[in-house]
Amino acid sequence: MSSKKVSESLGPNTRLAHAGNDPHSFHGFVNPPVVHASTVLFRDAASMASRNQKYTYGTHGTPTTDALAEAIDELEGSAGTVAVPSGLAAVTLAFLSCLSAGDHALVVDSVYGPTRRFCDTLLKRFGIETTYYDPTIGADIAALMRPNTKLVHTEAPGSNTFEMQDIPAIVKAAKAAGAVVTIDNTWSTPLYFRPLDHGVDISIHAATKYPAGHSDVLIGTVSANEALWPKLEETNMVLGLCAAPDDAYQTLRGLRTMGVRLERHQNSALEIARWLEGKDGVARVLHPALESFPGHAIWKRDFSGSSGIFSIVLDVQDKAEWTRKSHAFLDTLQIFGLGYSWGGYESLAVPVFLGDRVVATAPKEGPVIRLQIGLEDVADIKADIERGLAAAAKA
Ligand SMILES: *Cc1c(COP(=O)(O)O)cnc(C)c1O
Repeated sequence: MSSKKVSESLGPNTRLAHAGNDPHSFHGFVNPPVVHASTVLFRDAASMASRNQKYTYGTHGTPTTDALAEAIDELEGSAGTVAVPSGLAAVTLAFLSCLSAGDHALVVDSVYGPTRRFCDTLLKRFGIETTYYDPTIGADIAALMRPNTKLVHTEAPGSNTFEMQDIPAIVKAAKAAGAVVTIDNTWSTPLYFRPLDHGVDISIHAATKYPAGHSDVLIGTVSANEALWPKLEETNMVLGLCAAPDDAYQTLRGLRTMGVRLERHQNSALEIARWLEGKDGVARVLHPALESFPGHAIWKRDFSGSSGIFSIVLDVQDKAEWTRKSHAFLDTLQIFGLGYSWGGYESLAVPVFLGDRVVATAPKEGPVIRLQIGLEDVADIKADIERGLAAAAKA
């Protein structure tokens, strides 16, 4: 299926509306069909022997997963994309594509927690060593490179504490040492940061978040440049990972409205983050688009927007009171649900655990609470947070 490439010069919402779409391949229907498939039939024994047809088996792609992969390729500027059953599977697939026994990986210390668990358990068992580095390291990462360092994994901003990373400086050092650079680009989506334009080799998304956008789909995507695409495609085939057809379809559907949703997430989150700065009971707001945030200059230089998730550090002097105060805050919230994941239409709050960090240690002023700002009305969200802060103050 060869869909028309949507021009790179068009605006993001125009591209989201048309990327990966090829209605005339499907009798003019605007959306592609949801193809449920294991078996694909061949016309004759000769075509079976040569496998000389576009589709050969369900795990190797269908018109539905192709439409999603093409849309992501257009947005990321990548040579190829695979869709897998979760964001975590997208991370582990990318790592397994690049690493072999005896290799060394550099992974940012503010990484998504389950990525760390994968490195510390399975990669370790397979003889791959991981070093966690300071997210603010920049060009100094050169000093951590070893002859067997094959992968530098970045995540900007970092999970839960939102440290920014100087991606171009890290790419330069990694390239000089012959290592591949991967990024978990979930926070930005390809609308607000295009990693491959900055020299990153592989961009990973928990498409569960903003692309799917409704807290009902688990899916991940991995997109590679020309050099890495054959290895990624092969590894995916070997592992047998493939996203389910209905999930791929829902994600493609989500992409069509992602631009307008993100714009609202961005505006609401930024308004609330600014309002929270300097508020009684709040020691700090961790949001890269705030001028006060340590990594703000990097964010401003390389990113074109910010999404709807950030953290606050409650102002609680006595560590013995952290749990009581943070639970009082969380238990008083009515609009915010207490639950993991984010990128859906509804606001969510979670207490952040940072005990596994080795370099990028936790803020000292108080407990950290992560807020996903949903599509609800800002006044209602603010009132909810106000109630939470009042309860924490009294607790
Ligand atoms: C949620 C998340 C993932 C994992 O996505 P799942 O689909 O929940 O497995 C990976 N990376 C980041 C940064 C995330 O926030």
